[in-house]
Amino acid sequence: MFCKHCGREIDDKAIVCPYCGVQVANVQPQQSGTNVIAIVGFIFAFIMPIVGLICSIIGRNKAYEYGGNGRGLATAGLVISIIWLLIAVISGIAVGCAVADAISQGTYY
Ligand SMILES: [Zn+2]
Repeated sequence: MFCKHCGREIDDKAIVCPYCGVQVANVQPQQSGTNVIAIVGFIFAFIMPIVGLICSIIGRNKAYEYGGNGRGLATAGLVISIIWLLIAVISGIAVGCAVADAISQGTYY
């Protein structure tokens, strides 16, 4: 690879350019933080899918800041939230249809 600072060719594994001393490798600072929003999103995916969905989307974006930490969890939360929302919508339609059917048959009082 080439040094971004001085442009000289340097070893691919070099962290610091031997010519100009500038840091060249993307040294991932070990993020010790926990991607809390991803965990919150995952938990809320089961309780309140809308909140879970929003938190999971934020968590997925935040995962990049945490070096991928919590990305899988946020994705899982996202998928679960969507599934729950779909179930809610489908069951809502089903209940709505059942009620409308009952009313039309005069059995719903
Ligand atoms: Zn250099």
